[in-house]
Amino acid sequence: MIYIGSHISAAKGYAAMGKQALKLGADTFAFFTRNPRGGKAKAIDEKDVENFLKIAKEHHFGRLVAHAPYTMNACAAKEDIRAFAKEMMTEDLARMEYTPGNYYNFHPGSHVGQGSEAGIAMIAELLNEVLKPEQTTTVLLETMAGKGSEVGRNFEELQAILERVELKDKMGVCLDTCHVWDGGYDIVHDLDGVLAEFDKIIGLDKLKAIHLNDSMNPLGSHKDRHEKIGEGQIGLSAMERIINHPKLQGLPFVLETPNDDAGWAKEIELLRKLHR
Ligand code: FE
Ligand code: FE
Ligand code: ZN
Repeated sequence: MIYIGSHISAAKGYAAMGKQALKLGADTFAFFTRNPRGGKAKAIDEKDVENFLKIAKEHHFGRLVAHAPYTMNACAAKEDIRAFAKEMMTEDLARMEYTPGNYYNFHPGSHVGQGSEAGIAMIAELLNEVLKPEQTTTVLLETMAGKGSEVGRNFEELQAILERVELKDKMGVCLDTCHVWDGGYDIVHDLDGVLAEFDKIIGLDKLKAIHLNDSMNPLGSHKDRHEKIGEGQIGLSAMERIINHPKLQGLPFVLETPNDDAGWAKEIELLRKLHR
């Protein structure tokens, strides 16, 4: 089995997100821990969280895949931007503990000309400063398309970060199908080969979540433009193979496709139909 959901707005709180997920036919979802462009996070309302936890339990939700703001850059050249990233992640991880045992996914960062080696070192350093032995949240590095100076453009770069992190059991990877395709991994013609490579370099036990997106662009384009499921260059039959792959069962699959709520509900329904 798999869990399927989409991004949901966090504006009205946790219980509202849970209800919205049910409306869409979802049993997992992603949400931004704060405005995706950064800024302040809303205060936690414990009653609201309690209501949400009830909904999640009653409806057998899988783990949530929270998303850090994409402006967060753990390997910025400027020290104050890195300090801000550390502050945001520290705060976000504290908030995540109100809903224990879920995932916190982030874009490793952009090295902005400092080189990926330097970027990798800074990202690992920040993680070593913010991760705590007692946390129940697993932090996920997202596979990136490799546009600009993005770090995490291939499995080797993600592994280079992971091997420098001390609290290894607090870390995992979220594989974004649009990003790996744009990054040059042919999940259409050689899904088994790509997963074997992931296993060899990182280890499939580290693969905790999937961002299920089609791509507007061809293999290796390094563009990162998401498309609706089945309407892009990856296509529906590859999507069907991905969600049914034996090595990916049990994972949360999160849609980040360009859709409104009705579009997501339709995609979730379609994927459930295609899942055997
Ligand atoms: Fe992302
Ligand atoms: Fe993604
Ligand atoms: Zn993307």
